[in-house]
Amino acid sequence: MTAQIINGTLLSQQIRADVTQRAKTLTAKGKQPGLAVILVGENPASQVYVRNKVKACEDCGFYSVLENYDATLTESALLAHIDRLNHDPKIHGILVQLPLPSHIDANKVIEAIAAEKDVDGFHISNAGLLMTGQPLFRPCTPYGVMKMLESINYPVRGANAVVVGASNIVGKPQAMLLLQAGATVTICNSKTRDLAAHTRNADILVVATGKRNIVTADMVKPGAAVIDVGMNRDDEGKLCGDVDYLPTKEVAGYITPVPGGVGPMTITMLLVNTIEAAERN
Ligand code: NAP
Repeated sequence: MTAQIINGTLLSQQIRADVTQRAKTLTAKGKQPGLAVILVGENPASQVYVRNKVKACEDCGFYSVLENYDATLTESALLAHIDRLNHDPKIHGILVQLPLPSHIDANKVIEAIAAEKDVDGFHISNAGLLMTGQPLFRPCTPYGVMKMLESINYPVRGANAVVVGASNIVGKPQAMLLLQAGATVTICNSKTRDLAAHTRNADILVVATGKRNIVTADMVKPGAAVIDVGMNRDDEGKLCGDVDYLPTKEVAGYITPVPGGVGPMTITMLLVNTIEAAERN
């Protein structure tokens, strides 16, 4: 069996076309959606991410601001910038690009963002709302994964879902979203004793560890939907995921490529969260 590829680039285009239309409607009412992105320091990967996010906003007709501060910015100065943006009526979403320099407490910064502008969905009250089944913002990457499953009409209800990785930004919220959609969910982490025993039982396998080839074809149930969140570099420096893609493609029923899978969906769902925030406003 060769898996059907879930094309995140194509699905993103479809969702972004809808977002653009909604932005146009809001702008016509004098309520253009606005996103502020804050970058502290000169991490090259972060610079690329924020540029892509700002460009995606502009392409969809959003108002967007990029505030790029020197790595020496103090925590209190950063909190003051967030407070200003919290009160800016043109801004509906605020995103602080992680990681932050080590002298800044990222948790404190995330908690300073007004929960109704927390389009990353990382604020503790948004995490709590998600946990209790009343999400205001769903974190972008797991939200994108759910949209990918929806795009293939995958019957999530009753399925065995295994999430490999338990971070606050991907693994845990992913597990919550799958649980709320009716899946039976297992979360694996670096201490999991027999990873393959879990993954082989998965109808839906979401892999988010940052460990290249952590999932190989023999660890996948034939016909499973395999969603690869990982972003790594192979020996030639090319972008690759956490799943050993080519052999796994011959076993899985559905698979997401890297690049062109979850990556574009993450930015797209940031746009969706921002438009939803603007519409609520
Ligand atoms: P993270 O914070 O480093 O978390 C990694 C998770 O993987 C941890 O829970 C860790 O377990 C678990 N893990 C590590 N080794 C493992 C093993 N051998 N077996 C099972 N679990 C293991 O990473 P993250 O922020 O969630 O990101 C994960 C990957 O997704 C990275 O490659 C990142 O670049 C990528 N990513 C991609 C997108 C996208 O848009 N495509 C978005 C976000 C992240 P412990 O909890 O025990 O440490």
